[in-house]
This record gives sequence, structure tokens and C-alpha cells, in this order.
Amino acid sequence: MAGGFSSQPRGRQVPLAESRLFCRLAVFAGRFSPFATAASHSQLFKSALRLVETYVTDYADDLHRIWELERQFELYTPDGLLMGRADVILDSEDGHEKSLAIVDYKVSKGEERKDRNELQLRIYSHAGRREGFDVRAAYLHSLSQSSREAVTIDEAVVAESVDKATQAIASIRAGEYPAASSKKVCSACDYARLCRHCEASVRAGPE
Ligand code: SF4
Repeated sequence: MAGGFSSQPRGRQVPLAESRLFCRLAVFAGRFSPFATAASHSQLFKSALRLVETYVTDYADDLHRIWELERQFELYTPDGLLMGRADVILDSEDGHEKSLAIVDYKVSKGEERKDRNELQLRIYSHAGRREGFDVRAAYLHSLSQSSREAVTIDEAVVAESVDKATQAIASIRAGEYPAASSKKVCSACDYARLCRHCEASVRAGPE
């Protein structure tokens, strides 16, 4: 069974969970430079190792709280099913064994990406609660900065995120893909000079 509070002693489960977490962290760390050449591989491997070592030093307690890794959550909407996998679920949040915290690792910076990560965590939280779990916290964890940021998952903000995702799925189902132009996004787009939806100042070019 995926997840669940096993009746087995937790101490017997930790080594396997630890090794899976290390693998997970290493994969994330490696994503910083997915196109590394062989020559730089050794250096990158050392950097990745440092990130993992920092993580297990700063967040050693996580290794004793792993409830599940790569757990799938599902959101059912009238127009389709949304599925995603949370990187890590920790138990004993706030000192209560059956209270969970969802953690997602992030490797990139940027507000737009952050908004998406937060939306994702809120939907996981909603889905987990619908399954009957006591999801008390959600965190975005930056491996590069070794810092963890709490994401608000109160009922109101989670309901707003679920509405947003539900509407997005309905639009996709209806074949509606409205252009979401913005100065920031269009500035980095190769089609800026051709696209009729391009943000006006970007289309006009440098003054
Ligand atoms: S220029 Fe057009 S295609 Fe490119 S990001 Fe902007 S709206 Fe989208």
C-alpha cells in the first residue's frame, strides 16, 4: 500500500527511505546542469554531493520523518483528472505523528515558477485532505540555498487554487488557450516580433 501509517516499527523503514531520499536529492542536484560535458562531470558531481551533504546536515530530522516519497495526488474535476507527485511527505508535523507536511524541492528561481510551485503544493494539500490525511504544512525547499519556505495552505487559499486549476482544465477541454502575454515572458520569447499577442512594449522593441 502506498503511504499510510504502518504498524511496522519506523526504525526498520528508515534506511530504505533514506536511500531513496538521497537518490531523489541527487537527481535534483544534478538538474542544475543537465547538459554537463564529461570534463565537468566530476566537478558537478562534487557540487551535487555538497548540496546533499548540506541538506542532510541542516535537515537531518527529515530522515526520521519520511512518510512517503514521490507520492501521487489526484484532483478530480468535471473536465478531467489532474495528477502530480509530491517529492517528499513528512509525518509528525507539529509533533503529531499522523500530521503530514508536503515538501517539494525547487532548483530554479523566479516568481512565476514560485507561483506555480505554490499552486501545485496547495492542490496536493487539498487532495491529501480529501483522502482523509491531516496535511498541516507544505514547504518549498531550495537545495541551493538550503532553506525552506512555508506555503500557506489554509482552506480559503487552497479552495482558490483548486478553482484556478479546475478552470484551467475546463479551458483545455473546451479548446481554449488564451495567450497570456506579459513583458517578462514575451521578452524571452523567440516569436516576439511575429506574435500578434506579444506584449506591446516588447513588440515595439528597444526605445
Ligand atoms: S510573444 Fe506571443 S507566443 Fe511569445 S510569449 Fe508572448 S504571447 Fe506567447
